[in-house]
Amino acid sequence: MNVEIISVGTELLLGDIVNTNAQYISRELAAIGINVYRQMTLGDNIDRLVRSFEIAFERADTVITTGGLGPTGDDITKEAAAKYFGQEMVLDQESWKIIEDMCLRYNVSKDKIPKNNIKQAMFPREADIIPNKNGTAPGAVFKKDGKRIIVMPGPPREMKAMFKDAVLPILMDENPDIFLSRYVRFFGIGESGLEIELMDILNSQTNPTVALYAKEGEVLVRVTARAKNEKDCLSLIDKKIEEIKAVSGKYIYMIGDDSISESQSEMEKLVGDLLLEKKKTIAVAESCTGGLIASYLVANSGISDSFMEACVTYTNDAKVRRLGVSPQTIDEFGAVSSQTAEEMAMGIAKTAGADIGLSTTGIAGPGGGSDKKPVGLVYIGLYYKGKVTSIKRVFSGDRRKIRERAARTALNEVRQLLEGE
Ligand code: ATP
Repeated sequence: MNVEIISVGTELLLGDIVNTNAQYISRELAAIGINVYRQMTLGDNIDRLVRSFEIAFERADTVITTGGLGPTGDDITKEAAAKYFGQEMVLDQESWKIIEDMCLRYNVSKDKIPKNNIKQAMFPREADIIPNKNGTAPGAVFKKDGKRIIVMPGPPREMKAMFKDAVLPILMDENPDIFLSRYVRFFGIGESGLEIELMDILNSQTNPTVALYAKEGEVLVRVTARAKNEKDCLSLIDKKIEEIKAVSGKYIYMIGDDSISESQSEMEKLVGDLLLEKKKTIAVAESCTGGLIASYLVANSGISDSFMEACVTYTNDAKVRRLGVSPQTIDEFGAVSSQTAEEMAMGIAKTAGADIGLSTTGIAGPGGGSDKKPVGLVYIGLYYKGKVTSIKRVFSGDRRKIRERAARTALNEVRQLLEGE
């Protein structure tokens, strides 16, 4: 099966919104081994849309559209699909009833339902209608002579639910194989660095497929296998993950199924779980991260068994007064130094009576940098069992990114410590 995606909406062409629908559909289709040949974006113009169907069907047998299913005159996707196939639009009573019921739920009486909502219940008799659980515009599968146009609404929440619940099963039914994915999360290496390390694996991939996604300060790799059953898929995936581990294993911090969040870092959750599982207490002294580490830790429910306290010691005086950092250390090495970071970590652990003391001190910018101490320079201190260590990093990005990366890198230090226990 060869698919093309058509995104409909003048807002997309004007650059008012980003075309996340096409990205989502492409990724979902790639994960189940379906080729996407082309993506097109069109405004709300029926003739151009009909022409785009002609172009798409020159090489695809299935076209998936999103957008343009609303009740107003400039919503023309269904009309264009019906025109392309030469099919007549008639009122589908069942769809109309669902729209009526939905309006009643929002306290719109029957006689007040806008007349143009009827448009959303008009379909050719030949079409298979797909209900929309999250909105008033149903989707549909238009078909004729081995060609098929699957139309879905524009709002991403409605589109994603419809795609997962109805469209994906239709496409997967046509394929006897099953698809399974595992997600590998990397920390401490950027997307391009990892791409270079995994170049051979990426270039030779067939089944499983290996796809890289850059996330905030992390990289996510999705490994997707296609086979007759789950066991065969898993065995293909495990082999591929072993190959990946052999090259870049030191950066991997988590491997899991699709319960791993694709959009958010899993670092804070992992560190929270490890602290609780290993029954270790932690206290944090933050300078440039200004409470971010504490906030990440507190995102874990039940963390009060481990997380004792955090201090934002931003001035030199606070570092001395609250954590017992020596004024001489600050004079001699500066507040942004490994020595200060180490004294901060030790100070917070001792005063809080925690097993682990964690600290950050750095220059988040945009001002305050120098040749010797540039913007992005961060020292992270870690105290554990009478020993204190520190690492130095120079992060790129704006102030927010530098602070987030420093906070997650600090948590990654705790992860490595606890995993090595
Ligand atoms: P509605 O019934 O809500 O009018 P529709 O199917 O007509 O739905 P559009 O009017 O084209 O959809 O788009 C509605 C909204 O959905 C847009 O304002 C935009 O916020 C979002 N949207 C539409 N297309 C996309 C897209 N390709 N990517 C991301 N968001 C989109």
